[in-house]
Parts: sequence; structure tokens; C-alpha cells
Amino acid sequence: MKKIAVLGSTGSIGTQTLEIVRTNKDIEVTALAAGNNIELLEKQIREFRPSLAAVWNEQKAAELKIRTADLDVEILTGMDGLLAAASQKESQIVVTAIVGMIGILPTIEAIKTGKDIALANKETLVTAGHIIMPLAEQYGVSILPVDSEHSAIFQSLQGGQQKALHKILLTASGGPFRGKKREDLVNIQVEDALKHPNWEMGRKITIDSSTMVNKGLEVIEAKWLFDVSVDQIQVVVQPQSIIHSMVEYEDGAVIAQLGTPDMKLPIQYALYYPERRYLPGDRLDFSALSQITFEKPDMETFYGLKLAYEAGRKGGSLPTVFNAANERAVAMFLDRKIAYLEIPEIISACMENHKNIADPTVEEILKIEQETYEFIKNRW
Ligand code: NDP
Repeated sequence: MKKIAVLGSTGSIGTQTLEIVRTNKDIEVTALAAGNNIELLEKQIREFRPSLAAVWNEQKAAELKIRTADLDVEILTGMDGLLAAASQKESQIVVTAIVGMIGILPTIEAIKTGKDIALANKETLVTAGHIIMPLAEQYGVSILPVDSEHSAIFQSLQGGQQKALHKILLTASGGPFRGKKREDLVNIQVEDALKHPNWEMGRKITIDSSTMVNKGLEVIEAKWLFDVSVDQIQVVVQPQSIIHSMVEYEDGAVIAQLGTPDMKLPIQYALYYPERRYLPGDRLDFSALSQITFEKPDMETFYGLKLAYEAGRKGGSLPTVFNAANERAVAMFLDRKIAYLEIPEIISACMENHKNIADPTVEEILKIEQETYEFIKNRW
């Protein structure tokens, strides 16, 4: 019986992970962690019976403790709770499905206690990839990608030779505003940006997909996961989201993974790797599929992607600034405090203001995150 901990169990990836546990019946959930949603977390505790649950919000944690008094579950809170859930003795795999840089410390803790990581929380690799990847190697643990594109790359590399990898072709749907120009995006409202054409995801990543900042984060994530330079990663817009990504080998052969847009496939693959299992759901029907098309990304309109390439190329602490600025700008947009087009403007201003540090420590990364928030607070 595999034993897993799910950090961010009440979110989009978290609930889909638990759906896989529910259908397969041979995985035990030993720890769960969420931010605030104790109504859903309580239901999950009653169904999956973990021995530990962490709630970020202290008051909610106290409330949950009372609500679950009849169960044998320890309820913890704050960062201590998250770290305990990440490093709890029983689990073998930690699914990191929380949003944002808050995922860095728990991921490090999980690696240091010998857990394999099913990694959805891309912000951790974007900002601390230079720490996470060597640490995973040192502790002999696997970082298994959950992001659909990275899972596709990982799947396309099976049986191949990593050293013969020439290029990664990272596919993108283009989001709800594909084809639009900057002047068309002036009056974009939260509701417009939350309508993704192909994927159902959490709010932050849905906004990131619409700005193509998500693709930028994925470029940097892929650089760390597959040990390539960002210039070996080419973003290809494939609006039907059928090809989830491809790799090109030295001899020119291109291998791709295709499928319907369903996050349960990459999540299940990460949980059971290298085993492939039956997964209920729609299959690709090639006779009904009229076309698969390709486009170049428009990096002038969606210049968040261009900024990501710059951050990934320069490295150091710049990806932290890119990510922190985006996290704050997206939160402000969702709170209707800034206009849509201010998201890349804020990222760009923060990057320009930053003095890059090579190989930042975790403490420096977290300090730079706070400094970036402070800079934004003083200017917007
Ligand atoms: P959601 O917003 O749907 O879920 C986020 C989860 O994290 C919730 O369970 C939330 O709890 C929890 N959480 C937030 N803050 C904290 C905290 N401080 N402590 C503990 N738990 C916390 O996000 P997604 O599932 O969409 O995304 C999760 C990660 O996966 C992101 O990094 C995203 O980029 C990545 N990803 C997501 C994909 C998707 O299809 N959704 C695809 C590929 C990658 P609560 O509900 O209580 O607030």
C-alpha cells in the first residue's frame, strides 16, 4: 500500500489526487494540508482517515479540532503544521499542490525526510530549483512532475536517452486571449480571465495561463526538471491542448505525449510511476478530431513570457522576483485593485529594480519575496 501526504488537498490538484486515491483503493492518505477550507478538509478527513491534518489559518485549525474531536487525527497549524505534514514518518510520496512560494520549505523538509515528491507546486522549482534538484539527488528521492506539460516531457523521455535530448517543445493553449493584441486587453475583467478554453484549474494558475506567465513559469520549471538551458525550450502554441508537450532528440526525432486535457493522467502517472494504470475518462478520438494546429507565441502582447525567459536565462534571484511579483500582481488583479495589463507591468518594474544575486539561499529567496511585495506596496 502506497502512503501519501497531500499538501493543498482542497484545491484543484488536491481534490483530483484524492479522486485517484478513491478509484484505485491501494493508496493510503496519511496527511492532508489546506489553507482555510475546513468544510471540505473535514469531509476529506472523514473519508480518507489521515493521522495528521494541517490548516494554515490558526482559528480555522482550532475550529477543525473541535469538529473532528471524535476522530483519531492530529490537527496542526501554520508553517509547523505544513512541515509536519510534509515530513510525517508514514508517507512515501508528498504531493505538493499548494499555490505559491509557501511550498518551498515543506518541499525541502519532505526531501530531507526521504519522500519522493509529486510536484505540482511549480513556484518552488522556479524560485529554488538550484536548491531542490541537488538536494533531491543528495537524498536519493525522485521529483515526479504533475504539471501536464512536464509529465508529457517526462513520459516522452522514457526509454530515450536524456543525454541525447536536443530540445523541449513545450506546448501552450494560448489561453482565452489568444490572437488578441495589447489594446484588446485594456478592459479585461476578472471573469473574462478566469475562463480558460480547455482546462479547469485554480484561480491563480488560470489567470497565469491567460497572461502566459504560467508558460513562463513552466519554462523555468522545465529547465530545472530536465537539466536544460531555457534556450533549449521552445514554446509552441497548440490551441486544442491535445499534444501536452514534445521532446526533440539529437537525431531530429520528435516524441510527444497526447491525450484529452485531464490532469488526473499526470497525477496518476506521478503516483504510480513507472507503472501505467487504467484511468476512466474520455479517450482521444482521432477520427472525430478535425485538426491539431500550431502557432508561435505572441511574446509582445503576452510579454510576461518574454520576461520569464529573461529571468530563467539570468537565473539567480531574478526568477524569485519574477514569481513573487506575479503572485502579488495576480492577487491584486483578483481583488480588482489593478487592471489586467498591469500584471506584466508590475513584474517588469520589479525585475528592473532588482539587483540579481547568484545562487540565493532559501533565507535570501524568502527575503527577496518580501522585498518584492514591499516594492509593489509602495508603488501601486
Ligand atoms: P488551488 O487554488 O485550486 O488550490 C490550492 C490549495 O493550496 C488549496 O488546497 C489551498 O487550501 C491550499 N493552500 C493555499 N495556501 C496554503 C497554505 N498557506 N497552507 C496550506 N495550504 C494552502 O490551486 P491549484 O490546485 O490549481 O494549483 C496548485 C499548484 O499546482 C500551483 O502551484 C499550480 O501552479 C500547480 N498546477 C496546477 C494545475 C491545475 O490544473 N490546477 C496544473 C499544473 C500545475 P484552501 O482551499 O483551504 O485555500
